[in-house]
Amino acid sequence: MQKYFHSVRSFINLRDDCLFCKVHLVANITNFTGIKNDEWPIFNSPLKSDQFNIVINHTTSSYDIKANANINIDTGEVIFEFPNHSLMPNVDQYMSRGALADLKPCIELTCPNKKCKYNYCISSYILDVHNIAHENQITPKWKVSQVRLFLEDFEIKNHFIQNDWIREETHIFSDDSETPIIIPIIDFADIEEESLLSRISTYITFN
Ligand SMILES: [Zn+2]
Repeated sequence: MQKYFHSVRSFINLRDDCLFCKVHLVANITNFTGIKNDEWPIFNSPLKSDQFNIVINHTTSSYDIKANANINIDTGEVIFEFPNHSLMPNVDQYMSRGALADLKPCIELTCPNKKCKYNYCISSYILDVHNIAHENQITPKWKVSQVRLFLEDFEIKNHFIQNDWIREETHIFSDDSETPIIIPIIDFADIEEESLLSRISTYITFN
């Protein structure tokens, strides 16, 4: 499977449909919620007019920042808009970029079919945003670096099956155990649904 993508759109186009029910996958931007996806997301925004929007409302002991981050999925350009008048626009730019990084944004492609019990999902690694302005330009110009494929998962009964495409491993988590069964990666899309499920259940039975 392709692992690096030059744009967010090419990552979204990685797969059109749910492997199981064939319903068209939906793209969202959300925050990384742990390997097992077991933390509640802070945000989850759908794609709108070829852009992802993230509301940043960040308070730390040293600063407060309110901004909207707009990410263009074709150019990767990230524009921060400030609802409040900005006294130090360039400082606010850098603070927003820092606050955005703290949110650990990633792209998820999920099956929207409520009747599909597999909860199929593909997610990118946490997006990295860097400054592409020339050295002599004071105002930063932000862009998403290349997008990297990270996790691909689905559920069967009380098991959570996950491909970690960075480590090249398939992890089988069970509700009864903290530690997953780790096996060499299985490309879910490469084999028929039935053989995929029977292979997984063989691993579960013999471990
Ligand atoms: Zn589905």
